[in-house]
Amino acid sequence: MSRTYPAMAAVALTATAGLLVSALPAGAAATRFTPGAPGAGDPYFPDMGNGGYDVAHYDIGLKYDPATKGIQAVTSIKARATQNLSRFNLDFLGPLKISALRVNGAKAAYKRTGAQELEITPPKGLRKDGRFTVTVAYSGVPQTINDPALGTSGWIPTADGAVMLNQPFGAATVYPVNDHPTDKATYTITLTAPENLTTLANGDFAGKATRGGWTVSHWRMKQPMASELSMLAIGKYDVISGKTKDGVPNITATDQGLNISAENARSFHQQTEDIQAFLQGNFGRYPFGSTGGIVAKAGVGYALETQGRPMYDLAHRPGSIPSPGLIAHELAHQWYGDSVTPERWADIWLNEGFATYSEWMLAEKQDGKSVQESFDEVYATPADAALWKPKTADPGRDNIFHGTVYDRGAMTLHVLRKEIGEKDFAKLIKAWPTANRDGNVSTRDFIRFAEKISGEQLDGLFQKWVYTSGKPSL
Ligand SMILES: [Zn+2]
Repeated sequence: MSRTYPAMAAVALTATAGLLVSALPAGAAATRFTPGAPGAGDPYFPDMGNGGYDVAHYDIGLKYDPATKGIQAVTSIKARATQNLSRFNLDFLGPLKISALRVNGAKAAYKRTGAQELEITPPKGLRKDGRFTVTVAYSGVPQTINDPALGTSGWIPTADGAVMLNQPFGAATVYPVNDHPTDKATYTITLTAPENLTTLANGDFAGKATRGGWTVSHWRMKQPMASELSMLAIGKYDVISGKTKDGVPNITATDQGLNISAENARSFHQQTEDIQAFLQGNFGRYPFGSTGGIVAKAGVGYALETQGRPMYDLAHRPGSIPSPGLIAHELAHQWYGDSVTPERWADIWLNEGFATYSEWMLAEKQDGKSVQESFDEVYATPADAALWKPKTADPGRDNIFHGTVYDRGAMTLHVLRKEIGEKDFAKLIKAWPTANRDGNVSTRDFIRFAEKISGEQLDGLFQKWVYTSGKPSL
């Protein structure tokens, strides 16, 4: 995510965490089936995600009706059991009404419970390592999340449609999901809307057709994607399609309500390609099959690194396009955050530190402002400022978008660069996303990796910069 733009109001969301107490199945059968966990074990967000299975693929078919501003949808999930399951949970939040739910084609019992749990009991236990399919049909107007600390996410209505933005949560307002970054999966998304509206989603455009006044468009994300990075945009957009020099399809779109000139829209499209090429020179091959960007009028006050096609909310700046620094930030996340994703939200500095550092690197190339100057500017922040208070690699649930995660994260990388030298740093920032492509990582993994490349003991440096509160000395 970009830093939140100033002056964005937030409304309180009341959600009470509900822990499920599980009962063992009656009878002593040869195989014992037990319930999957109702959370993925992330201390910041105990309700997010679930245990007992691993999702391989989401197939989302969603129809948007402007008359109701609501959706009719069918989501089909292919998964593999990682234990003998008597029942399992998905995350599904808000007022959407379920009309049918099947597991492997058979009707299954379900219950909506806790803050966001959809508890599903299939007619028969699911054996460990067995594959299964869950299909859920549902409809209604999805909920918008307004978290007092983390802002607006989920389904966000716009003047002529809606967008979906899911960091750190929100996906569960629109589709049933194992909503934690550790369970990445591939996606196919099919969107239906009146023919005067444009529909966009992550990944490769796989065709569209219009019949009876409704247009159906098809999207595919072939690389594993964390649910927090899935997105949708429905509304009146101007779209430019092309290809980068490397042949990667580039689709950019600008909300017509923002009155962005054709020249600016073209510039945004071209800058996306140029900045991506610059980042590729530093980080190695672009990790996804398509790229682009959506300039939206959503009023959320941030841009987000939605996989393969970031979304930039510019409701507060009609007519303008994202700055080069902002484009560099969100595209850098395609390597750092999207392809390589922290396994715990506490480690989000691994995303934001690199994205901020990429802004500094681009400023050096484009404006001649050296990375060292950017570092010095932020380091000059007085020792009693809020910037230095949270621990960068464990900032706390409400501080995952705190300045420390961005600025101190980037400063840590610069201090590391000076410690291990130009050659090893250049090697590190290319080797890390390559070695961990499509994976999940921790800060400890990063430290070990940097130590291996540099041959240096780096515990002290990271202890001082990411695990300790207070302004570090140089
Ligand atoms: Zn970011």
